Amino acid sequence: MDMEEKTLYQSIVVGAGIAGSVIARKLAEEGNQKVLVVDKRDHIGGNCYDVKDEQGVLIHQYGPHIFHTNQKEVFDYLSRFTKWYMFDHEVVANVHGSLIPVPFNLNTLYFVYEEEKAKELEEKLITAYGLNSRVPILKLRENEDEDIQKIADYVYENIFLYYTMKQWGKKPEEIDPSVTARVPIVISHDNRYFRDKYQGVPLLGYTSMFQNMLEHPNIDVELNTNSKSILTFKDGQVIYGGKPFTGNVIYTGPIDELYNYDEGQLPYRSLEFVFENFKQNDYQGHSVVNYTVSEEYTRITEFKHLTGQDIDTTTIVKEYPRDYDAKKGQIPYYAINNEENDQLYQSYADRFLKHEHCYLLGRLAEYRYFNMDGMVYHALALSEKLLNKDKSGENLGGVK
Ligand code: FAD
Ligand code: UDP
Repeated sequence: MDMEEKTLYQSIVVGAGIAGSVIARKLAEEGNQKVLVVDKRDHIGGNCYDVKDEQGVLIHQYGPHIFHTNQKEVFDYLSRFTKWYMFDHEVVANVHGSLIPVPFNLNTLYFVYEEEKAKELEEKLITAYGLNSRVPILKLRENEDEDIQKIADYVYENIFLYYTMKQWGKKPEEIDPSVTARVPIVISHDNRYFRDKYQGVPLLGYTSMFQNMLEHPNIDVELNTNSKSILTFKDGQVIYGGKPFTGNVIYTGPIDELYNYDEGQLPYRSLEFVFENFKQNDYQGHSVVNYTVSEEYTRITEFKHLTGQDIDTTTIVKEYPRDYDAKKGQIPYYAINNEENDQLYQSYADRFLKHEHCYLLGRLAEYRYFNMDGMVYHALALSEKLLNKDKSGENLGGVK
């Protein structure tokens, strides 16, 4: 690409994950901006990327991704770029060889207790919390009723303790309570993992959805390109192609990397994914089995049960939680949010945001966990903000 072309861009998006792809499309389409999207990986889609493996099984390279939302606006936006394979996602836990529904709900009671006792406990839970309520494990443990305490102990010990120790290297009460609250005790006979109205995966896969999103005459995508090789942030200025760039920069990568970790690494948990193919139709009969009392991995996903793919071989993935060290090239998956880490993040963010027209977007750049739908919502909101700005002529951007 020659310099003439380079000077055309009004926005540069770092990262072709869900956050970067959504905002790139919005700015290109609705703002009629020329947008450059760069990603250091050799593919688009970020962690939502899926691909067929050697055996032809569609796998999720960075762990199982099930799209779920209650926000019609988000679902409708993505539906412009894909049809869906819709299903209600369910998970079971392998507890000493028995498979029980997770989140723990009124059905699970009947797997664990004799019918008469289960019925009695069911009534107790409904009286205490109300039908259809959702109670985080740490809250259930505070209940003073002896029977409810017993249930809480069971759930804590058989669902949460070992799994959380593996995933976070800490006990449930030592991590941010919002994390375990994502999988509450459900006071109803609902086995679904999520309650959302829309649940499923893109019919032809996530990568195909992102391809459609990024396919726009105003969008150029450059893969295998670290933003560091094309953008410099210095003294409040962004330099691109050797010149000051005054367009929008939407950064969706890890912010500490941008500053060579000079204030320290932002802590994350990482994961190692081990894929295995079996020349058989079915491996475990479920899309996801959580291992909550045994094994070093947290869960096994069997992809064909998620994607609905009709194929006579099957691929699974085991997820092994790992400590994270950016310098060893590990992928940061889960931000470890606490006061100290959030402060460190804020310090990096403040430095970055001193640059005009520069924005932080995404699970890495914002150092927060987002589900995909939250990410889309957030990307749509930032696009609207930038587009309104553009309409008022405040930020037409571009290289000077
Ligand atoms: P990413 O997908 O990480 O994209 C960021 C992109 O930026 C990457 O492609 C990266 O290569 C690129 N990049 C970074 N730095 C640079 C740089 N300097 N230069 C160039 N490129 C750069 N959500 C759900 O809704 N449902 C699920 O079932 C679900 N399952 C999940 C399972 C796991 C194991 C994990 C970890 C997350 C899961 N999520 C799920 C969350 C989901 O992955 C995120 O919401 C989503 O990936 C966030 O997208 P993003 O664009 O912010 O980040
Ligand atoms: N969790 C658990 N046992 C389970 C499922 C979840 O202990 O069977 C805890 C664990 O701490 C996990 C958190 O609940 O990190 C959130 O679960 P979720 O399924 O949302 O995790 P993710 O999909 O992000 O791995």
